[in-house]
Amino acid sequence: MKLVLQNLTKKFPSRNRKSKEEVVAVNDFTFEIPDGELIGLLGPSGCGKSTMLNLICGLQKPTSGKIFFGDDDVTDLPPEHRGVGLVFQNYALYPHLTVLQNITFPLENLRGEAKMTKQQMVEKATQIAGLVQIDGLLERKPSELSGGQQQRVAIARALVKMPRVLLLDEPLSNLDARLRLQTREEIKRIQRETGITTIFVTHDQDEAMSISDRIVVMKDGVLHQIGKPQDVYDDPVNLFVAKFLGTPPINVFEGFVKDGKLHIGEDIVLDVKGAADEDVWVGIRPEGFVLDENGPFSCTLSGLEVMGRDVSVVSTNEHSANPVIRSIISAENKVDLSSPTVRFALKPKKVFIFRKSTEERIRFDIG
Ligand code: ADP
Ligand code: MG
Repeated sequence: MKLVLQNLTKKFPSRNRKSKEEVVAVNDFTFEIPDGELIGLLGPSGCGKSTMLNLICGLQKPTSGKIFFGDDDVTDLPPEHRGVGLVFQNYALYPHLTVLQNITFPLENLRGEAKMTKQQMVEKATQIAGLVQIDGLLERKPSELSGGQQQRVAIARALVKMPRVLLLDEPLSNLDARLRLQTREEIKRIQRETGITTIFVTHDQDEAMSISDRIVVMKDGVLHQIGKPQDVYDDPVNLFVAKFLGTPPINVFEGFVKDGKLHIGEDIVLDVKGAADEDVWVGIRPEGFVLDENGPFSCTLSGLEVMGRDVSVVSTNEHSANPVIRSIISAENKVDLSSPTVRFALKPKKVFIFRKSTEERIRFDIG
């Protein structure tokens, strides 16, 4: 099912009695999710992700704008008629019901043509339990399950009615790191097998990047960028997006452009033909540095961090916006730790410049 959001806006009245200013949790959001895609909705805490899901499932009404499932305008449809499956961070299983009863629960309320016999419900639940691989646990109570298993039950419950759209609101946040990795792979598999259009909300860029067909990056209720994870990483539209994606994060410096050359302090670090003279933020991905004793960019060497295959050179620079600079180089490279400075050349495709005032990306010709 294709999902279309048209100029979707949600405002909340101010909770602060002194200021009348309302909170715009979702601000004029327009985008379309093709049928069967898994979208990662990514943004910092408080940016409006949960509000967005609440609007899509109908738990909240938009202040303005429209929502379509396929060609159906569902904006005024009550939640129970939208055909949405929801999974929250707190799985909220019924503690007194078994796993099987938890999964069949949404089927009990079906009426009319959709009404199912007990036998049909058990069959359906068993099939879905197989899909999320909890079919051996059907007689247990939620308290007898691990966190990861509970989350699978919650996903099974959301899927049992074969929703048109599946919404997952930070579903992995309560799991430990290892289980998080495993469960996100599972979610990806389940989504592929069912082909249900899915929105996966997270504040964790790593999670969004690994699981999504496309990511939507938002901040303060505003959509900043949509695209394939790698494309957004390689081609961020502004400083916020560039900083939000990537581990270790992008290194940011104060710099300026003069006569087609990019300066950081005294160093002329890169040709940026086509960019006008102005003050800029310079973003350099950790993998954008090349160790080069004759390189143009000089930093103060602090040390090395070994990360298996790669080595991270840690250095400082007075124009850096971050306390330290992390540059990733292959472990075969030798770094002279006795030297107080380290020199780098830069890979042009891994260097982004942003207008100082608006933080918008400035394009330049890569030679
Ligand atoms: P996220 O899920 O990205 O953390 P939310 O959608 O929960 O963000 O919240 C977005 C903004 O809207 C926040 O500033 C939050 O305080 C505000 N907000 C959310 N729900 C309400 C509400 N029911 N009443 C007033 N403000 C709300
Ligand atoms: Mg939230």
